[in-house]
Amino acid sequence: MIELKDVRRTYRRGTDNEVHAVRQATLSIAEGEFLAIVGPSGSGKSTLMNLVGCLDRPDGGTYRLAGVDVLALDDAALSRVRSERIGFVFQQFHLLPALTAVENVELPMLYRRGFTPPRSARELLGRVGLGERGHHRPGELSGGQQQRVAIARALIGDPRIVLADEPTGNLDGPSGAEVLDLLAELNREGRTVILVTHNPEVAARTKRTVRIEDGRIVADSGAVPATARVSGEEALP
Ligand code: ADP
Repeated sequence: MIELKDVRRTYRRGTDNEVHAVRQATLSIAEGEFLAIVGPSGSGKSTLMNLVGCLDRPDGGTYRLAGVDVLALDDAALSRVRSERIGFVFQQFHLLPALTAVENVELPMLYRRGFTPPRSARELLGRVGLGERGHHRPGELSGGQQQRVAIARALIGDPRIVLADEPTGNLDGPSGAEVLDLLAELNREGRTVILVTHNPEVAARTKRTVRIEDGRIVADSGAVPATARVSGEEALP
């Protein structure tokens, strides 16, 4: 359902300095996969994640998401696809400090007029183990609790895809393990979960690892010829 072909993204610095953050990346991810994008710092992981998440547009190549040529969409339509299909989790949590946990979780619904979440912010906070903390502001929560609020926020729109960029990067071991357990559970429910990490132990929790170096995909433990990829997971080795 995620099909990137020959995608590239070049940043321009000043007049004659170009950074090839992602070069000719071709990547297919089936519905329900649990995948890690790994590589050294500066290798292009976040750039690739931002492209997959429709937060950024490539300079070349094609991207079909659930069969839709998303690069042909205007910005408003692209934002709509993003808010309907994708939930985001970031290393720095990106919660708004003045809002309570419940208000933070509800925030994405500002952009989804007419959509009724299948589960309320309070239910989702209960699900991530924070049922009693709905009225707390981020400053009154630990890092692990803030990241769990961010996961509840990612789920409010009931997305089929969850993208997590270094979700445990700012957490101690036990809090990071809780966050990974939650992401694994979301995958068991059938959601596609993609995480970016430079930590091999985190990557080992997933079912497929894509390695990127200097903007190129150099290894993919789950790469299957397109013809073999007929029925999602069953076609995987
Ligand atoms: P990673 O997530 O693996 O650390 P990034 O995708 O953040 O790597 O960055 C890949 C390369 O692109 C790096 O050289 C980085 O400095 C550069 N880069 C990333 N974002 C920008 C930007 N907005 N403007 C200019 N260069 C950028």
